[in-house]
Amino acid sequence: MDIVFKCPACQQQLEVDADAAGHQIPCPACGKSITIPPADASNMKVGIAAHSSAAAKEEKHFAVPVSERPVEALIKKALTPLDAAKDGPKRLRVRTIRHIDCKEVGHDNFDAAVTEFLTKIGEDSIVSITPINYSYVEMGTQKLLTDFGVLIVYKG
Ligand SMILES: [Zn+2]
Repeated sequence: MDIVFKCPACQQQLEVDADAAGHQIPCPACGKSITIPPADASNMKVGIAAHSSAAAKEEKHFAVPVSERPVEALIKKALTPLDAAKDGPKRLRVRTIRHIDCKEVGHDNFDAAVTEFLTKIGEDSIVSITPINYSYVEMGTQKLLTDFGVLIVYKG
């Protein structure tokens, strides 16, 4: 350890080994003979070292909160709206179900077909259901017949 003191003649700051305390030396700056003071708390360089180690501890303390976890969480949160955007906003769509398309031989599937479709898209996606009438020529009889159906507007 070193003793830090000032030359009483020229005020030059000097640093000598603590073992030299009490010895007389010529000041390296002004050449006058000076007596090296005994080591004490005010001039020991050890005291300065203790200060710097305390500063080092403080630096470590500041380093502790640094963590990658909050960054990961932010990335996951940012992905959620991206996933939603991938599906895109639901668009308005139209499905027309004609009675004639649901008739099988000896069997009328119209109600079942409409029910099945409404169940598939879900109640919340239904915008409107409009009854329609349409005309068609029956193949066998060549007569013009009128039939019905529904026009379903939905989001999907
Ligand atoms: Zn001096």
